[in-house]
Amino acid sequence: MSNSTDFKLDSGFFKGSNAEWVARKDAITPRGVAVGQSFYADKALNAELWDIEGRRYIDFGSGIAVLNTGHRHPKIVAAIKEQLDHFTHTAYQVVPYASYVSLAEKIAQRAPGKSTKKVTFFTTGAEAVENAVKIARSYTGRPGVIAFNGAFHGRTFFSMALTGKVMPYKRGFGPFPGDVYHAVFPNPLHGVTTEDALASLAQLFKNDIDPARVAAFIFEPVQGEGGFNPAPADFVEGLRKIADEHGILLIVDEIQTGFARTGKLFASQAYNVEFDLMTFAKSLAGGMPLSGVCGRADVMDAPQPGGLGGTYAGNPLAVAAAHAVLDIIDTEKLEERAVVLGDRLKARLNGLKTKVPTIADVRGPGSMVAVEFLDPKTHAPDADFTKRVQAEALARGLMVLVCGVYGNVVRFLHPLTIEDTVFNEGLDILEAAILAA
Ligand code: PMP
Repeated sequence: MSNSTDFKLDSGFFKGSNAEWVARKDAITPRGVAVGQSFYADKALNAELWDIEGRRYIDFGSGIAVLNTGHRHPKIVAAIKEQLDHFTHTAYQVVPYASYVSLAEKIAQRAPGKSTKKVTFFTTGAEAVENAVKIARSYTGRPGVIAFNGAFHGRTFFSMALTGKVMPYKRGFGPFPGDVYHAVFPNPLHGVTTEDALASLAQLFKNDIDPARVAAFIFEPVQGEGGFNPAPADFVEGLRKIADEHGILLIVDEIQTGFARTGKLFASQAYNVEFDLMTFAKSLAGGMPLSGVCGRADVMDAPQPGGLGGTYAGNPLAVAAAHAVLDIIDTEKLEERAVVLGDRLKARLNGLKTKVPTIADVRGPGSMVAVEFLDPKTHAPDADFTKRVQAEALARGLMVLVCGVYGNVVRFLHPLTIEDTVFNEGLDILEAAILAA
């Protein structure tokens, strides 16, 4: 084997103008992979990112909720480098490694609920969702799964079927797997109460599926793509009660809410309810692809040996990064930090309400914060205003993401490790952007 270290990625990869790369991208990658920005990343550190033309951006999007511990945290970089010097891949199901097992132990210890738990790892969030459904079906021997409108669970066939939004996720991609149903998710701002949501389940059981054929409910503690809509406690308690009445499992999808974002390691810790299965991904591994399912040991053990897994599932580099992430969350007290930062952000946004009546709602636990814009006269969702806020922020060097079934919500996913000075700079830009929109 050569010891040569002079291999370099195509040097042009790091150089050139943004416009040049946009043109090359348009010619070679399909439009279905819609790209948010027209600049190309060069390097990033904690909450800042620089493009290939040297422009700096403050990152309040964290690569869609993946970087609660920031870009390139030194402990994560060190953990990955250390693992690189041991091995990068064995396929866990072929040759196991201890770091996988000990990460599973750590997650099981920290997951909410009293029951004994087991944990397994995958690569993407959608894959975790698919496997949670496989496990639930295997345990119950039932086919049906009930999700909620506005939900996002992924882009693979089953997770796409569970997703409760047609555009852009489902159009043209059917038929979808059967036995998937959608109930109503509470949304007080839009007049949908917990009673409405629970009543919609009764309607489903009456009109569409016998509850005795339902394997699981799946829901997000705070809907992510759907608009940062928190699931009210009485709704979650109601769901648990209905699940227990009919022998249905409750799957909580923590893929966007997990790993200190909401002020707790898992958002579901806020409920007085035990969940049977939990999916997680994104911020678990600080930018490395890693996801998993944690659940009641008896449920997790339902699938036969060989029924679960995947070539890259629990990749060693990603597992090493995840150990570092859990350490950082503890040592840097990121659960508390999420609350401090989120409160500061919410205070700023609430302070703008009198000047900007389009601000209809500021919400979210910890640092899973959103601002929703409605036309003050008609109360219609104002997606145009929302787009202008995003564009005005970007022009001033702040990246924010939009979400919501009507595209009228700006969501904040700043790294929880962000420096105070950078965070305050971001808040100043945000305020200027909202006032200019
Ligand atoms: N579930 C939730 C709640 C998510 O937010 C996402 C991603 N936005 C997914 C599942 C799918 O994850 P992935 O894109 O890694 O497949």
